Amino acid sequence: MLYPKQWQYLKKTYELQKMPHALLFYGQHSIGKKALALELIKLLNCQYGNTAERPCQTCRACLDIGKNVYPDLLIVEPEEDKEIKISQVRALHDHLALRAYASSFKAVMIDRAHLLNQEAQSAFLKLLEEPKGSTIFILITEYPEMLLPTILSRVERLRFYHTEVQTFDQRQKKIIAELLEIIRQEMVLRFAYAKKLAEEPKRLKEILETWLGYFREILISAVHNHNKEYSLAKLSKILKLIQTTDFLIATTNVNARLALEILMLEL
Ligand SMILES: [Zn+2]
Repeated sequence: MLYPKQWQYLKKTYELQKMPHALLFYGQHSIGKKALALELIKLLNCQYGNTAERPCQTCRACLDIGKNVYPDLLIVEPEEDKEIKISQVRALHDHLALRAYASSFKAVMIDRAHLLNQEAQSAFLKLLEEPKGSTIFILITEYPEMLLPTILSRVERLRFYHTEVQTFDQRQKKIIAELLEIIRQEMVLRFAYAKKLAEEPKRLKEILETWLGYFREILISAVHNHNKEYSLAKLSKILKLIQTTDFLIATTNVNARLALEILMLEL
């Protein structure tokens, strides 16, 4: 098993019959979150008699889930790798209105959930708000901050790491120290800093990525209520803006200084 800690936690929760109806698996891209979600769905549906030995991997339910042909499992993914649209959430709603076929509940996995567009997120929130004793939702994402705070507050979050904790190297620590300094400054000094950064396009990507890592750490501590300095909504806005700025500067000839000034207004 790739993630023994997370798996033990899920299995224990299952044995205590305390499985929440919505989970969020988050962490860096392609590190087995989806595979673990499938194992969990097998665990919940396995027909093998001995609880401790589930999932057995050999019963009809385990096999069908592995092949993605299980009738009570629906996997929602972005269309053409771009976004998850409201029509997909409506289809999900219709699917959930039908009775479970093979088991007593339905499982829904939303892969790359950060690609739910705004409309789709609002519609999905309504689904989450409805009492659904017989549905389990598993959201998978590498960018939890792209989800509405109201969605984040309704799911139980489970973090997946490449390494145990995010660590910053010396260069990154220096970048963060500079950032903390500039956040305390007047707007005119922040703009002067934006101008300076815009003149060093080579360093800019590293700087923006470090900021992203830093604000993600703050978001995670805010989610666990250890950080009161920023609201979740504010952090989510900052993170999105850093991502957008990074994306625009890397892929278009947008005026880097202007983009950075907009970012400075939010920090
Ligand atoms: Zn089984």
